Amino acid sequence: MANKETLIAGGPVVLPLVREYGVKLLPADSEHSAIFQCLQGVPDQGLRRILLTASGGAFRDLPVEKLSNITVDDALKHPNWSMGRKITIDSATLMNKGLEVIEAHWLFGIDYDHIDIVIHPQSIIHSLIELQDTSVLAQLGWPDMRLPLLYALSWPERIYTDWQQLDLVKLKELTFCAPDHQKYPCMQLAYAAGRSGGCMPAVLNAANEQAVALFLEEKIQFLDIPRLIEQVCDRYVIHNCSSPTLEDIIAADQWARQELMNASQVLEHSTITKVSSKQKTLTLT
Ligand code: MG
Repeated sequence: MANKETLIAGGPVVLPLVREYGVKLLPADSEHSAIFQCLQGVPDQGLRRILLTASGGAFRDLPVEKLSNITVDDALKHPNWSMGRKITIDSATLMNKGLEVIEAHWLFGIDYDHIDIVIHPQSIIHSLIELQDTSVLAQLGWPDMRLPLLYALSWPERIYTDWQQLDLVKLKELTFCAPDHQKYPCMQLAYAAGRSGGCMPAVLNAANEQAVALFLEEKIQFLDIPRLIEQVCDRYVIHNCSSPTLEDIIAADQWARQELMNASQVLEHSTITKVSSKQKTLTLT
């Protein structure tokens, strides 16, 4: 599974089919590959908690009051990973981590109260699992997508590579801090959507895709991304159902995209939120 959005939106339909046909779903996302690697040999009821690591994105060290001036170019600079435009923006808003919480829920069958996020700026520990006896296992490596991709292809085997080996002495230190939910509301939006279930993760995902597209076109500001997604999710609550069909999910996805466009029009007309070219000179420290 190399595309998390499919599983996030379609989890209620995909997972029962995976079970019915006895398909082994192998993750290629680096965090989920780390969890999957750590889980090898762990008995079925052994997992207690998942700890997803997050680099903190492009604005990890930027004070919250400066987030309103962020430009597309600023947001496309990721400190550790070289990735596509959409996922790099998702990393900057930390929506990527929120989406990965929902992805972990579906892949590993664990409830949202037992999935936590920790900021780890070096991106060397790709995620951790805690077992029932409090033992914690982690998977480490350079931030390089080749490894999770190779493991998805070679599992359960391990193939020799001549890639650069990890050097802990050279790294010297690995650091951690708690995620800032005030600064990055997208994580809580994702937890809330995951807990609502039904089509809500599909609505969150579609609203996010649409909001990121508008940001990349410089039609909304960086901080409008979580604001608009929250509005769309709030409006969907009354329509949500507990066991959606594929048709329900596709309809919810399309509804959310349109609803986000409508909400962004109101934003544009009423205010100050449009990015002006003058603001593009912000320098990150
Ligand atoms: Mg990832």
